[in-house]
Amino acid sequence: DMSLPAPTVRTTCPYCGVGCGVTATVRPGTIPIIAGDAQHAANRGRLCVKGAALGETLDLDGRLLHPMLRESGTLRQAGWNEALERVASGFASVVAEHGPDAVALYVSGQLLTEDYYVANKLMKGFIGSANIDTNSRLCMSSSVAGHKRAFGEDLVPGCYEDFELADMIVLVGSNTAWCHPTLFQRILRAKEARPGLKVVAIDPRRTATCELADLHLAIKPGTDVWLFNGLLSYLARHGGVDGTFVAAHTEGLDAALAIADADCADPAAVARICRVDPAQLLAFYEGFAATAKVVTAYSQGVNQSSSGTDKVNAIINCHLVTGRIGQPGMGPFSLTGQPNAMGGREVGGLANMLAAHMDLDNPVQRDAVREFWDAPRIASRPGLKAVDLFRAVEEGSVKAVWIIATNPVVSLPDADQVRRALDKCELVVVSDIVHGTDTTLHADVLLPALGWGEKDGTVTNSERCISRQRAFLPAPGEARADWWALCEVARRMGFAGFDYAGAHDIFDEHARLSNWRNGEDGAGRRVFDLSGLIGIGQGAYEALEPIQWPVVRGAGGEPVATERLFADRRFAHAGGRARFIPTTPRAPVHAVDGDFPLALNTGRMRDQWHTMTRTGKSPRLSSHSPEPFIDLHPNDALLCGVREGELARVTSRWGAMVARVTHSGGIARGGVFVPIHWSGQTASDARVGALVNPEVDPVSGEPEFKHTPVAVAPF
Ligand code: SF4
Repeated sequence: DMSLPAPTVRTTCPYCGVGCGVTATVRPGTIPIIAGDAQHAANRGRLCVKGAALGETLDLDGRLLHPMLRESGTLRQAGWNEALERVASGFASVVAEHGPDAVALYVSGQLLTEDYYVANKLMKGFIGSANIDTNSRLCMSSSVAGHKRAFGEDLVPGCYEDFELADMIVLVGSNTAWCHPTLFQRILRAKEARPGLKVVAIDPRRTATCELADLHLAIKPGTDVWLFNGLLSYLARHGGVDGTFVAAHTEGLDAALAIADADCADPAAVARICRVDPAQLLAFYEGFAATAKVVTAYSQGVNQSSSGTDKVNAIINCHLVTGRIGQPGMGPFSLTGQPNAMGGREVGGLANMLAAHMDLDNPVQRDAVREFWDAPRIASRPGLKAVDLFRAVEEGSVKAVWIIATNPVVSLPDADQVRRALDKCELVVVSDIVHGTDTTLHADVLLPALGWGEKDGTVTNSERCISRQRAFLPAPGEARADWWALCEVARRMGFAGFDYAGAHDIFDEHARLSNWRNGEDGAGRRVFDLSGLIGIGQGAYEALEPIQWPVVRGAGGEPVATERLFADRRFAHAGGRARFIPTTPRAPVHAVDGDFPLALNTGRMRDQWHTMTRTGKSPRLSSHSPEPFIDLHPNDALLCGVREGELARVTSRWGAMVARVTHSGGIARGGVFVPIHWSGQTASDARVGALVNPEVDPVSGEPEFKHTPVAVAPF
């Protein structure tokens, strides 16, 4: 009845880690009307172009609507029962013959927390191997490792409001304007209201973000640790140390400072290494020292590096030495890439974590999870991280892999290696909402998943805010929730503990685990705590308002959120002190040379998301940048013999791709930028992942996406 008001559903955007609230108004037979949710604190009604175009991406073109099985080389439609049997029996027989470490799950920051929870429980708890990793390894794992080293737990101290309360915002390796647009708009408005708010951009590229910056330090790629060690040293020598805070709440300053002083005590020398103007570097150091309310926000330019974890800690060191943490308007802030990278970390989706921020190598915590899940076979040591996992697949030690909601043949470094690995693998299971991706082409079993607007659950954004994603569309074809498929396989493998009444039931178990024997290991209570949401029923879960963890229970039994951590100056390490981490600067693993003279940097475009399976459907979004490109300095183009507008080939030691040459004006001599979104299934095979070197950070396992030596030549 068109006279009735159309129902409006409040949900959360499926793209970036800002986690904007979205409303969808649905009338049968028409495209849902998408708008920003004015009641959601992350965006207060605003959306970026990607979020605003969500309605254009909901058609069923290219959707995977039925399970498919490969037989004699070709895929045929199958029923769920047959497909699930094939997965369960395939996994069970590999485990029986070769042990639990011969199977693996590779999952995604696109998954809802509930899907993620069940995947992790199945693999670590019941199959008995920690070979489950996630594409968050490519994105956030250096921040996770940096947080754990400094704070004792993977904790983001602040909240978005801090950006509005700050007097200085330092954006490091982050094109916030394009990659976290509504947060950038908040910074923009804060600066309009208070022109005294200083913005510093630290990025080898001059991006759209730099237009707002009072100061842009276009550092040489990979030199961030020199820059922040130099700042630490400068602060120590210019009265920037908060001696009371450092003495009472931290440890390890002397060791960190000794390393910083060794190479970086002279700002002029640091400026030379970072290839920036010495006066501008000094202006940054002086501004940082003189401003109490500083937020230092960082993203993939920091994380995606063979020294990513040290970069994170070099930044955090500067906040600890000044005591600028846990108070309004200040703190280090990791900007999460994906919509639910944080939720995945909470349930232990990384191969080196357990669940609820517990650690695999902590026997007390492992015993607590074993008991809670009634899982005697629980994994006892870390599993393979993403890059190593696909190497193990190629080498044959991992014989069956289940890939959920991600496209590693496009997105992993040395992507041709991933293709070879999947070609050789005995059993490749892929759960996705679409078919015909570079990864689904290798599947022996394809399982149709629910997409955004169809699935139900929760996600956690960069400021620890848990929000509901709600369904407002019917499930198309035979598509089902990923958690359901995982539970069905678990049951068929003979495991108990996978009978859930719905997503709310999984969330409740997750909340109970967060409070289970918490604090028993002598290290104090873990900060991650959802005890205020234990016992949430279906009704309360449906109505759940966005809420920042930790969530405890108030005097009246109500859930109480936490805006900022460390206001009490207590950190999660035993003893409650934060730790300075000595960070020895080191160059990217592979240096440019005569054969490969340019340094390739990769990243996002404003209007596309990941491998474009959703945003590629919107003509409006595709018009911003309709094809892949190679962005470099005009002088380098001249030396390579390539011309703007013409096709060129980029080659590295690992692979090659072809795209059109462009000069944005934002690339310094010696650099090349190529966007990450295009795949082998678009007009040209433009998988930049095929070029990217597979070196990883030794602590986090995060790949070095921002620095691969390449050559550019006419096509
Ligand atoms: Fe979605 Fe991020 Fe845009 Fe918000 S800023 S609408 S979460 S893509």
